[in-house]
Amino acid sequence: MLQFEIDPETSQLLEVIRWLGREYMRPLGLEADRIHQPIPADHSFYKRVWDLGIGRRGWAEEQPNTATPRTTTRRGVVLAEEMSYWDRGVAVSLPGPGLGGPPITLLGTAEQKQRFFAIFNDPDRPHWGAFAMTEPGAGSDVAAIRTRARRDGDDWMLNGEKMFCSNGARADWVVVWATVDPALGRDGHRAFVVERGTPGFQVTRIEDKMGLVAYESASLVFENCRVPAANLLGGEEVYRERAGFKGAMQSFNATRPIVAAMAIGIARAAYDQAKEFVRTAYMQHRPIPRYRRILDKLAWMERKISCGRWLCWRAAYLADMRQPNITEASMAKAYCPQIAQEATSLAMEILSDTGVAKDALVEKWFRDVKAMDIVEGTGQIQRRIIARQLTGLGEG
Ligand SMILES: Cc1cc2nc3c(=O)[nH]c(=O)nc-3n(C[C@H](O)[C@H](O)[C@H](O)COP(=O)(O)OP(=O)(O)OC[C@H]3O[C@@H](n4cnc5c(N)ncnc54)[C@H](O)[C@@H]3O)c2cc1C
Repeated sequence: MLQFEIDPETSQLLEVIRWLGREYMRPLGLEADRIHQPIPADHSFYKRVWDLGIGRRGWAEEQPNTATPRTTTRRGVVLAEEMSYWDRGVAVSLPGPGLGGPPITLLGTAEQKQRFFAIFNDPDRPHWGAFAMTEPGAGSDVAAIRTRARRDGDDWMLNGEKMFCSNGARADWVVVWATVDPALGRDGHRAFVVERGTPGFQVTRIEDKMGLVAYESASLVFENCRVPAANLLGGEEVYRERAGFKGAMQSFNATRPIVAAMAIGIARAAYDQAKEFVRTAYMQHRPIPRYRRILDKLAWMERKISCGRWLCWRAAYLADMRQPNITEASMAKAYCPQIAQEATSLAMEILSDTGVAKDALVEKWFRDVKAMDIVEGTGQIQRRIIARQLTGLGEG
């Protein structure tokens, strides 16, 4: 039976995030969008967030290999929705391991978890992690990655390029996916933790995005970048039976419901603004043209947002129970960004000229939400995964 109760600690965190969101996240996200610059890593906001314990909690204590159910993913979807309600770009920019956390949790040895997560216990200053899979020639088709990993004595040498790495320029370390031999496809994949400052590792570009400007999307280059063997996640023995690929996919099964919940957060923000607009017009006895159609649009948003939220919660619940959730995670990820795009579009229609004006929040959300269908596997890829699972065709 699906159980979903928000525990007292998560409720408390939600309150903190509501306050942070109202006071800081939304204004900062708007400012980043208007000046078209990511929020600098040394901004005092991140230290404030860090001092509140956000991004820091529990990473070193995560024990993924035990059979004990956990609440991490359920807490993740609830908090992700709330943060993105205020600003999804700022939410991604927050300190913490980011998308680099799940592969370390899933594939890393106890020593590696301890070592790489230790920075998140540092009381003095915020720290970030990042995840680099995408390359100029490999996005949806992750089997096509060409960043090469070659063993050289006690080290590995990395050569290649990555792009669209979220928080990649500020990260203390990046989980970098490379191949020991492109001909092996997914069997050749290995995951390395590359620390900032490692010779041969460079940030070459920050992407100029249409939305979600608050965090940087970095291009990275590895040129004869020497990484100690101790930074190969899990050690070489883990990479039998496609463990590298499976590790990446498993980590997506944990993060896709969270990304889907972020889309729900943006949809809810747009819905609330449209609702408020209609309510205010009604209270002020202003004429609202096609009033019934507008009410129907609001009801559509409410229904779809609720459905999407349940898809996220179900996928998160299964992840916490350590039950297979590939189909459910993909259903959440395929559904939520689409309805969120529709919701921001409907909100602009309802707000009409005030919605499309350049200083309107809903105009920003309309641009922010587009990428939600692309990140963590596009909508098409999710639908393909669902169909292959339902027909028994496997991972493909
Ligand atoms: C804001 C943002 C943040 C990101 N953050 C990260 C990050 O932190 N780390 C990281 O590694 N990557 C990140 N990415 C990259 C993201 O994961 C890729 O953009 C995504 O996987 C799609 O790859 P692509 O852009 O190369 O598109 P392509 O794979 O080239 O796809 C192009 C189009 O073809 C469709 N398509 C492709 N294959 C199929 C198929 N088999 N069947 C049907 N349709 C198909 C796709 O759906 C898409 O519409 C980020 C991207 C964005 C926009």
